[in-house]
Amino acid sequence: MPRLNENFLKLEKNYLFINIAKKINAFKAENPDADIIRMGIGDVTLPIAPVVIEAMKKGCDEMGVKETFKGYEDSGAGYDFLKNAVSEYYKKLGADISPNEIRINDGAKSDCGNIVDIFGNDNIILVTDPAYPVYVDSNLMNGRKIIYADSNEENGFAAMPDYSVHADIIYLCSPNNPTGSVYTKSQLETWIDYAKKNNAVIIYDSAYEAFITDKDIPRSIFCIDGAKETCIEMCSLSKTAGFTGMRCGYTVIPDALKVKASDETEVSVSQIWGRRQGSKFNGVSYPVQCAAAAVFTDEGQKQIRENIAYYQENARIISDTMTKLGVKFTGGINSPYIWFKCPNNMGSWEFFDLMLKEIAVVGTPGAGFGKNGEGWFRLTAFGDRDRTIEAMQRFEKLVESI
Ligand code: PLP
Repeated sequence: MPRLNENFLKLEKNYLFINIAKKINAFKAENPDADIIRMGIGDVTLPIAPVVIEAMKKGCDEMGVKETFKGYEDSGAGYDFLKNAVSEYYKKLGADISPNEIRINDGAKSDCGNIVDIFGNDNIILVTDPAYPVYVDSNLMNGRKIIYADSNEENGFAAMPDYSVHADIIYLCSPNNPTGSVYTKSQLETWIDYAKKNNAVIIYDSAYEAFITDKDIPRSIFCIDGAKETCIEMCSLSKTAGFTGMRCGYTVIPDALKVKASDETEVSVSQIWGRRQGSKFNGVSYPVQCAAAAVFTDEGQKQIRENIAYYQENARIISDTMTKLGVKFTGGINSPYIWFKCPNNMGSWEFFDLMLKEIAVVGTPGAGFGKNGEGWFRLTAFGDRDRTIEAMQRFEKLVESI
């Protein structure tokens, strides 16, 4: 009989969104007519930009013609036309990344979860708490030791390193899911300094970089000096261009990123990751890569910006409500997430239950993202405008009544 990787048995059984779904179903069974507004799961709702759809259709048509048909992609790391487009995009963000340092993937989640394959199980992993659950889960699956850096009210939910503690691999996410906080340039410089002093690698998740409006906030870790020797960046078109159902993202591993093997030889992280991907990943479909490339054209950028602006306006409506009610929050600016403190010091799940029961609005309890999330709550700006306004009117009444 095969033996299990029993680390899986140690994972949290009730995944956050399964728990939420159960509670909603129970509520619906008791209140079949309730008009539920969902502001919980961080999925986008606006359709894909027309220029992107056109490019995908063109890519499909090419697949139906012998002369332009495409089978397996040679490298599986993405077509040059897309890698060049991403490289040009990085230039506009202020980062010099060559196309061969970019690998196209089916979204950030896969690489965030799979990157652990190339690192030994004896590494010490540092995760900011609260965090996107993939960082913790993918390391627990291999039985790695995880330590946490606290993001909390005192530091504006932007955890900073403790130099007295050693880590080998560090996960950072800015703009952050779930807290909506962003790291400043000097904070990122500190993290890179800490990584250098510890010979550590930073895995930087910039899935929400397109929501940054503040010119002084870096949209890539590679805008910071020294990042190329210490960092891997993962980004995605999911939230930038509505690709959650299309699946396309990119990971940047600079040539300068090297790690020492136990025999002291220097190993290129990019080469090892390329070797791993070559064995386990066959690339992203051609039509989707055509669509992704259209995102980076001038017209594509103009069209996706309209959708992002719509979500940003929702975020402003939610933030303004919190400000008006005197509810403490982070995010909303530079981020589609609003992370607020539950009124009257209520617990996250307690407040979830109250919101569902009293105003039929669903959010995400902060406790589901780590211990520092207890007592906090996440709302997303990815919904419809009218529903967001309606939810905030209900929310106002609720908070004023308690
Ligand atoms: N990283 C963060 C912080 C996220 O919140 C998400 C999705 O919600 C992802 C990565 C994964 O996105 P995708 O796999 O759709 O690119």
